Amino acid sequence: MIVDFATATDPGMVRNSNQDSVYADGKFFVVADGMGGHAGGDVASRLAVEALSEALLDGASPQEAIVAANHRVFEAASRDPALEGMGTTVTMAIVNDAKTAVEVLNIGDSRAYLLSRGELSKITSDHTFVQELVDAGSITEEQASTHRARHVLTRVLGIGNYVEADSFQVPVQDGDRLLLCSDGLVNEIQEAQIAELLAAGDPTAAATALVNAANAAGGSDNTTVVVIRFSAESGTRQLVDRTDVARTAFASAPAVSGNLPRFKGQIPAPLPTQLVERSLIAPPAIRLIGFVILLSVVLAAVVLAVSVYVNHSFYVGVSRHQVAIYQGRVGGILWFKPHVVDYTSVRLDQLTQGVRDQIIHGVVEPSIAKAKTFVHNAESQAKAAKVAASPASLLSAVA
Ligand code: MG
Repeated sequence: MIVDFATATDPGMVRNSNQDSVYADGKFFVVADGMGGHAGGDVASRLAVEALSEALLDGASPQEAIVAANHRVFEAASRDPALEGMGTTVTMAIVNDAKTAVEVLNIGDSRAYLLSRGELSKITSDHTFVQELVDAGSITEEQASTHRARHVLTRVLGIGNYVEADSFQVPVQDGDRLLLCSDGLVNEIQEAQIAELLAAGDPTAAATALVNAANAAGGSDNTTVVVIRFSAESGTRQLVDRTDVARTAFASAPAVSGNLPRFKGQIPAPLPTQLVERSLIAPPAIRLIGFVILLSVVLAAVVLAVSVYVNHSFYVGVSRHQVAIYQGRVGGILWFKPHVVDYTSVRLDQLTQGVRDQIIHGVVEPSIAKAKTFVHNAESQAKAAKVAASPASLLSAVA
């Protein structure tokens, strides 16, 4: 089997810097999307890619390489306050010696796809808050793509002492194409378009077309892709560097070409025919951040709802022996205390005993106008009762 490949990376149409890093050598491929401030993102993704490649070339297993990369990024962040909190996603692929299968590992929301016999399959599962909601059946994939918390990651390399990658064994056959990409691609174009562009032309053409499509759709983030083609016929290894893509404003993103480095890493065998289910171990701190954000949104919604309810509530009550109209609920709700919005000229002792008792306990009305009508009626009722009880009226009644 012949393996040929191409990489392409671009800062996009909005951002000035490119915090993605990419590495490809025909055996080992990685895309890393850094985060953590202006400087941190660049450093985190670059350090991770360097540490991963060094560890693998040194004979480490993929998971050991992940641990080494995590340690390097975490240590660098611990030493320099300017880099504190930096981290990176990682999606990497390692081709076995027989070139019949690929081990894919991922942390975060950079992805791997396999195009086989015209069908595109997503190999990786994003380590994001919204993916957990999708997995739990709370929202659909479509809702997740526009969810306001879609960028909240639940697993990141380099922000804690330990991180574990999901691992997938992917058998490959003649004609298959493997894509590694940062979220800048999938946030901009649909999977149907990804399948179409990934299939067309050689890896160089496909990689270039994918990045250009992301930019044409808005290019709101850095976009990085690795396209790997597996074919039974002979082919030429190709590589796109930053000047090969139509746009010229590229920022740093290392790409490696030339002779293949010596590779001593152990590839597990035998290979299963199905993708291996991922294990899910998310750093507690990141999961906590997601939970706190969700809780804050829910609390804000509750406070807003109570505030609206209170502002549309009125009642007739008493303020210093005077009948008054209050906005709010009798006794108050949470920290929303009722307050007087209209002092009437009516004293409580001018009203009949029955109405007085009602007002002392608060007479709830749906609007301030209705509250005023109640006071007016109460006053009229009291006047009528007074007239009925006066000596003049008694006399006229006797006559
Ligand atoms: Mg990104």
